[in-house]
Amino acid sequence: MTEQNTILLRGASLLGEQGADVLVVDGVIAEVGSPSAEGARVVDADGLVALPGLVDLHTHLREPGREDAETVLTGSRAAAMGGFTAVLAMANTSPVTDTAEAAERVHDLGRAAGLVDVHPVGAVTKALAGEELAELGLMARSRARVRVFSDDGRCVANPRVMRRALEYVKAFGGVVSQHAQDPDLAGPQSCCHEGELSGRLGLPGWPGVAEEVIVARDVMLARHTGSRVHVAHASTAGTVEVLRWARSQGIAVTAEVTPHHLLLTTDLLGDYDPTYKVNPPLRPAEDVEALRVALADGTIDAVATDHAPHARHDKEHAFVDAAFGMLGLETALPVVASVMVETGLMTWADVARVMSTTPAAIAGLKGQGRGLEVGAPANIVLVDPSADVTVDRDASVSLSRNNPWHGRTFGASVRHTLLRGRPTVLDGSLVQEH
Ligand SMILES: [Zn+2]
Repeated sequence: MTEQNTILLRGASLLGEQGADVLVVDGVIAEVGSPSAEGARVVDADGLVALPGLVDLHTHLREPGREDAETVLTGSRAAAMGGFTAVLAMANTSPVTDTAEAAERVHDLGRAAGLVDVHPVGAVTKALAGEELAELGLMARSRARVRVFSDDGRCVANPRVMRRALEYVKAFGGVVSQHAQDPDLAGPQSCCHEGELSGRLGLPGWPGVAEEVIVARDVMLARHTGSRVHVAHASTAGTVEVLRWARSQGIAVTAEVTPHHLLLTTDLLGDYDPTYKVNPPLRPAEDVEALRVALADGTIDAVATDHAPHARHDKEHAFVDAAFGMLGLETALPVVASVMVETGLMTWADVARVMSTTPAAIAGLKGQGRGLEVGAPANIVLVDPSADVTVDRDASVSLSRNNPWHGRTFGASVRHTLLRGRPTVLDGSLVQEH
C-alpha cells in the first residue's frame, strides 16, 4: 500500500450513527471498523458524518454557450465543494444537448475537469422546441450513456409528444424529467406565485395549478405507457397530492424538490429582488410545509439543486425582465440539514437516501449512491454537523453570484469530498491540483 492510493478516514460517524474508521484502497472502500492505518494517509473525521457522495439530478453548467456564467469546470468545483460526486447537466445549453455528439462533448468536458461525474441530460425534443423528438436512442447509446431526458425550462406541453417520448425511453430504461408548467396557464412572463402578493406587486402570476395539471397528465401518461416519468422541482401541495395518489396506484413516477422550495417563501419577492426569481416560483409557507412532509415520508424521492448560474447582466434587471434561477450546489446540503435534520423531520440516513442513493437510482448511475460498505466505490462526503457557517456569495467557486443564501447562517458544512477515493475537497477547500 502506498500513501497515494490508501486513505484512512478516522472516526467518521457513518450516516450519523456508529463511529468507525473507513479504509479506502485504490478508490474502493476496503475495510470499515478499525483497520490498520499503516501506510495510509489519515484524514481526521472525528465528529464528522460520512454519507455517500451526493448526486444532483438537476444542474445547469451553462457550457457550451454561456461560459461567462459557468463552465463544466467551475460548476464541477461548486459541486465538489457541495459534497457532490455526480451531477446531471441540463440540456438547455447553446447548442442544446439534443444529439449524441453534443452529449459526448459535455461528458468529455466533465471527464477533463475530473472533480465530479458529469452526466449530460438529453433534450426530449430538438432545440427544446417541443415538436420533434431529439436523438434519444443515439444519445442513450453514445459514450455519454444518457438516461435522463428533459426540456427543462420548457415543459413538454404537447401530450402526443410526451407520450411518444415516454414510449421511446422505456426501451432502454430511460426517464423523462418534466418541468411541469402548462404554458397557457403560466406563460413566459409569469414570475410570481399567483396570489394576493402577485396582485399587489403587479407581477404576472404563476398559479400552482399550472404545475399540477401537467403532473396529473404525465402521471396518467406514465401509467398508460408503462414508462417512467420524473417531476422536476415539485413546488406545490397540490403536486404532492397527485404524487401521493400516483404512488398508491403503483405508477412509476418519481419527483424532486429543490432546497430553495424547502425554505424560501414567496413573500421574499416583496421588494422585487431578482435574486429570488426562479421557475417554478417561490411558494407560500403552506406549500413549503407540504413539500417538507412529502420529502420526509418518501412521496418526494430526491432533493435536486436546479443550480442555475447567471451572469450579472442577465440577473440584475427589473424583476419581470431578470433571468430565472439561483445558485444551489454549494449550499444544498447545509439547507437540507437545517430544514430537515435539525427540525427532526429526517435522519442523516434519510439525507443519504434523498441526496445520493435514490437520485443515483433514478438516473441509473451504478457507481454512485452506494452505501458506505466494503467493495463500494469510495464516493464519500464528510459533513460537519455542528458547524456555524455564514454564506458569503463572494466566497463561491461558481462564476456567478446570484446566491439567495448570502448572509444566512447554517449549522452544517461539507468538510471533505472523495471521488473514487481521491480527495476533491479537504478541510472545506478545493484540492488544488484542479
Ligand atoms: Zn432547471
